[in-house]
Amino acid sequence: MQFSENIEKLKPSATIAVSTLAKKLASEGRDIINLSAGEPDFDTPAFISEAAIEGIRDGQTRYTPPAGTPELRKAIARHLSRRAGRELSWEGVVVTSGAKQGLFNTIFSLFGPGDEVLVAAPYWTTYPDLVVIARAEPVTVFGAQERDFKITPADLDAAVTDATRGLIINSPSNPTGAVYTLEELDSIARWCRDHGIWLISDEIYRNIHHDGDAGAPGILDLPAESLGDFVLVDGASKSYAMTGWRIGFTFADPTASREFTALQSQMTSNAATPSQVAALAAYSEVEDAEASLVTMGAAFRRRRDLVVARMQELLPGVPYVRPAGAFYLYFRVDGLFREGIANATAWCSELLEKQGVALVPGAAFGDDRWVRLSFATSDEVLEEAFRRIAAMVGASASA
Ligand code: PLP
Repeated sequence: MQFSENIEKLKPSATIAVSTLAKKLASEGRDIINLSAGEPDFDTPAFISEAAIEGIRDGQTRYTPPAGTPELRKAIARHLSRRAGRELSWEGVVVTSGAKQGLFNTIFSLFGPGDEVLVAAPYWTTYPDLVVIARAEPVTVFGAQERDFKITPADLDAAVTDATRGLIINSPSNPTGAVYTLEELDSIARWCRDHGIWLISDEIYRNIHHDGDAGAPGILDLPAESLGDFVLVDGASKSYAMTGWRIGFTFADPTASREFTALQSQMTSNAATPSQVAALAAYSEVEDAEASLVTMGAAFRRRRDLVVARMQELLPGVPYVRPAGAFYLYFRVDGLFREGIANATAWCSELLEKQGVALVPGAAFGDDRWVRLSFATSDEVLEEAFRRIAAMVGASASA
């Protein structure tokens, strides 16, 4: 069979691949702890689900405008304006089927053959592949390990060329959990502005911030003059435990947003209408939404403390990034390699086979010496997972 060049270099999402294998083993009766998935383990807050159910009963089951209902776009714009402390136009908001589609619309509309797009690394597995689908060239930019891999203008200076058209950053980061400070974001935004480069900021984990009372700093917290052309990508999936509802959004200049809408209108049209009704509750019922963020945030922070404590206790000397946000622990396993286990992919396969623990190898994020553990699960499951990981490390050390 022959397929087109459009998909020649495309790989299925590596994180989804591991999680699918873990689910398959579990369905065959194996005792599997799956720490590979990237989703909150909480149910969607009831006030959100109830709003959708009521909406369906009310007949809100038809097409909406491709960019989403004006009510939802306005609610999101109000939500963003509160954060930014300045009035933002609702015409800049495009509601998408998950943040992933927001990223697709953005990357496919902005970049094409001959363009280079800088991708801060380690990166969420999908970014370089979306750049490849647009037939542009992803260029990875690694920050230093001592800075939790956060990139700086000096890192960007070393990677920029005449063909560079954009930069994709993600804070809080998947997979590292690192969070950029406002000053760090400001220096990156100014660098993009000064180089005439699109800044794409994926802030899907913004509300999952362990080291502060408010959300993690984002580009809308910056003074408007620091920003050149930018696209903010966000959504309801992680903040409101709504991964299956498929609601994301982009916020950009209305001119860019019209282009994203045109693309989306030819691809998927609007995000599912009942899901938009649910998201309208999430973005407009401010007190209820805040209460669920606080409850889920407290659980994530406790689990972050737990996994960091177990790392120090059970895997001393194994380098890791202390997660300041999101729900991932990123740790370095090349010190544990030995004969036959020469990369994190092999190490993770062995861990899955021998101990039934599924993690994601760093190959998915640009460095196969590291692994990612998702701590979006109960304390008991995390305790058991660490016992098993330590058992494998102990067994191979004494082998
Ligand atoms: N951006 C990052 C960094 C993610 O980790 C994910 C999901 O794992 C997404 C975007 C996609 O979010 P959604 O499920 O809303 O498409």
